[in-house]
Amino acid sequence: MTERLVAGGQVLRPDLTVERADVLVDDDSGDIVDVADPGTLDGDDELDASDGLVIPGLVNAHTHVAMTLLRGYADDKALDAWLQEDVWPVEGELTPDDVEVGAELGFVEMIKSGTTALSDMYFHVDRTADAVERAGVRAVLGHTAVTVGKDDEAARADLQQSLDVATELDGAADGRITTTFQPHSLTTVGEEYLREFVPKAREAGLPIHYHANETENEVAPIVEEHGVRPLEYADDLDLLAEDTYVAHGAHVDETEIELLAERDTGVAHCPASNMKLASGMAPVQRLRDAGVTVGIGTDGAASNNDLDAFDEVRDAAMIGKLAADDASAVPAEAVVEMVTQGSADLLGFDSGRVEAGANADLAVIDLDAPHLTPAHDLVSHLAYAVHGSDVRHTVCDGEVLMRDREVLTLDEAAVRERANEHARDLIARAEADD
Ligand SMILES: [Zn+2]
Repeated sequence: MTERLVAGGQVLRPDLTVERADVLVDDDSGDIVDVADPGTLDGDDELDASDGLVIPGLVNAHTHVAMTLLRGYADDKALDAWLQEDVWPVEGELTPDDVEVGAELGFVEMIKSGTTALSDMYFHVDRTADAVERAGVRAVLGHTAVTVGKDDEAARADLQQSLDVATELDGAADGRITTTFQPHSLTTVGEEYLREFVPKAREAGLPIHYHANETENEVAPIVEEHGVRPLEYADDLDLLAEDTYVAHGAHVDETEIELLAERDTGVAHCPASNMKLASGMAPVQRLRDAGVTVGIGTDGAASNNDLDAFDEVRDAAMIGKLAADDASAVPAEAVVEMVTQGSADLLGFDSGRVEAGANADLAVIDLDAPHLTPAHDLVSHLAYAVHGSDVRHTVCDGEVLMRDREVLTLDEAAVRERANEHARDLIARAEADD
């Protein structure tokens, strides 16, 4: 057991005040032991936080991490065309090895930009779990099931696999992995399958994560077929509940916002992806005013195109103001809270706050930089001025994942080389099939 002192810096506290303090973490329990006045705590090892700000590791509430291999492959198209013409044909060629390599690349990027936890939706999930184990991050994983375009047998097998994977992987990587049941979306999984499998997931006690109301094209068909809004339809299917969160929610009306609040269902807001695919602007201020828990996610790297959660925080504030037509909407404090405690709440992790007893998931920001000068308000800097590249150290579960910008758990150069090879071969296979 090593008690490690993160010493000499300022600390962002759960109430978003900043004070000078040292933080003691235990790599055995994986918890924060104490946060106390500078110089009053002792550790076996020390991480230098001087000229730095200790913050909770950021929590990426919605991503498809292995999509790093598709980064920059196809841009500048609307969601439906982008998926059908570019993404799905390539994903059809993805091997389990590709998924593991893509996930490793994503985790290197996340560790280097201060993200310590994520919620992932994808397939070949056992290989993502292997990468989580090695990288040292914390993750909610799941197998994403789609039934459109499949025969009954294949559709049911896919949903069963989502249940099985969620049951099998829960608690893996020394408890750093938890799981969700994942019907892809309300329009890509047929009603009869949701009626059959959602009760099974609820019986098994599995949390549920799915895409909802991302674009107008996901709203209109449900209104047409069922005569109700998508989240009213979801409610009828028992898809709104406490341990449930939807990705996007860009197009939700007042009735749906009230339903989310009443059912305690959270929203993983993905501002960059929503802007890049011109999907729409989530009414984040209205969601928060109604009491809905909102977290922040990057979505996949193919629609972002990076996994730097600091970019996402800034984007969330900007688009939140534009959506509300109000510069005071979605202020700095709101977005910082959303990417830490908000996202952690959705994922069910006791992370997102620097406090004794919480998970020892931390990032230390180097404040010694021209773009962070002067320092009138460090919460403002976190929202609007800090970049992922300002992160000096990253700690998860009490383990140091990056020290002085060097990733310790994965070999960055080797990961990048493998990712380049796998991405090149993947695209070649997909284009050969055209
Ligand atoms: Zn997504």
